[in-house]
Amino acid sequence: MAEKDFTIVVVGGGMCGLAIATALLRAGIETHVFEAAPKFDEIGAGIGLGPNAVAALRGLGVLDDVLSKADPPRLAMRPYTFVTGKGNHEHIFDYALSADEQGLSIYRPIFLDALVPIIDAKYTHFDKRAVSVSTTPSGKHVVKFHDNTSVEADLIIGADGIKSTTREFVAGPHPDKHLRYVNTSTYRGLVSISALKKDGVKTDLTKPLLWMGMKKHVVTYPIRGNELLNVGAAVSTSFTTSPPATDSWVERSVPAKEMFDAYDDWGKDIKIILSHIKDPSRWMMHVVDPPLEHYVKENVVLVGDAAHAMVPHLSAGVGQGFEDAYVLYRLLIHPQTSAKNLQSVLRIYDTIRPPRATMVQRESVRMGRLYHGFGPGAGGNTVKQTQEQLNGIWNPVWYHDLEKEVDQHLNRFYSHGGKL
Ligand SMILES: Cc1cc2nc3c(=O)[nH]c(=O)nc-3n(C[C@H](O)[C@H](O)[C@H](O)COP(=O)(O)OP(=O)(O)OC[C@H]3O[C@@H](n4cnc5c(N)ncnc54)[C@H](O)[C@@H]3O)c2cc1C
Repeated sequence: MAEKDFTIVVVGGGMCGLAIATALLRAGIETHVFEAAPKFDEIGAGIGLGPNAVAALRGLGVLDDVLSKADPPRLAMRPYTFVTGKGNHEHIFDYALSADEQGLSIYRPIFLDALVPIIDAKYTHFDKRAVSVSTTPSGKHVVKFHDNTSVEADLIIGADGIKSTTREFVAGPHPDKHLRYVNTSTYRGLVSISALKKDGVKTDLTKPLLWMGMKKHVVTYPIRGNELLNVGAAVSTSFTTSPPATDSWVERSVPAKEMFDAYDDWGKDIKIILSHIKDPSRWMMHVVDPPLEHYVKENVVLVGDAAHAMVPHLSAGVGQGFEDAYVLYRLLIHPQTSAKNLQSVLRIYDTIRPPRATMVQRESVRMGRLYHGFGPGAGGNTVKQTQEQLNGIWNPVWYHDLEKEVDQHLNRFYSHGGKL
């Protein structure tokens, strides 16, 4: 292991926790992951990664591992086509790409297939649900777990998702204070594309589609080499937000009729697609709101949904988490980073990350409103208005030179003798 004079614990082994832990361990820095579940697990659904997410994975040194498990095993950017949900699914807009974008749509579990084997089992600890984080008199941190065990470290990376415990240490002790329900449920499922064709779907399902309407939209894109269609069907009851729901936020198997009825007034192809989802999961969409101004307190740092859970309307949530992981990784592996300057180095992370992730959170909300405001209903946008607003919507998310930004901060910091 590399000679760092500080110890690291990652709380939570989702995609973001695993990304940072794998990269640090590969760099030879001892890092232990404590996960609440009995094993690493991801839901069986697809996930879209834009060029910024791909660049972050490349910078973390894990892109080739992920690609080796992807089907097809190469980068492919396929832009969305926007169509109407109602009627005959008329064309609204083709999102234009420049030539050199590189993205990826993957089946989420392959991320685990790619990364988990890289981590030596002695660095992973399961059935460890963190219940609190505190500071010792010597300035270290203690994470306590539900089974009355605890671990002490110099640096705690909170990657424990939207219901984060580590967020309480960073942002204050009221668990619900930063969480809102966005009055939207998303039904998710995977469907065989050949079965849909057999049942008469005319729309070309081999390209990513965004089906728009009033207060609802559906996202579909193919995964596993055009074999399966990933479906996310979002239904809003209002554009306002509410306190967090007291019911379970994710139901693995809900009656398909509930989802089907919500799209009763939509066109034929979408109805066929939804009729093929026999046991949809339902996600009550929650976000971190208001956005956190800081992701760092003392030597506890938040990454991923723990810091900035957002609505998925720009497919940007995990990409922002990978950006967090990349920035943190670069700061920590720097040869001059040590226990002595760790808090100053973390302040660099806290300068770079919150403004950008907050911008992406806000843009994602704006896009949800656009997707759900299409059509002739009260206040609905016309095709022309929609085209204008969709044009370039991913630009601020996809195009940002994070590597250069980190380089500049590190150069400035270390050329001033490690002082901010
Ligand atoms: C419907 C939907 C579609 C989406 N589509 C996209 C998309 O296409 N592209 C995109 O970029 N993003 C998308 N997202 C967002 C993306 O799923 C999240 O941003 C991402 O999964 C967050 O990863 P994470 O590792 O931060 O958190 P999580 O995946 O939530 O992982 C947190 C981990 O921490 C563990 N944990 C929780 N609490 C504790 C505790 N107290 N102690 C120890 N461990 C704990 C959990 O068991 C889990 O393993 C979508 C989200 C939704 C809901």
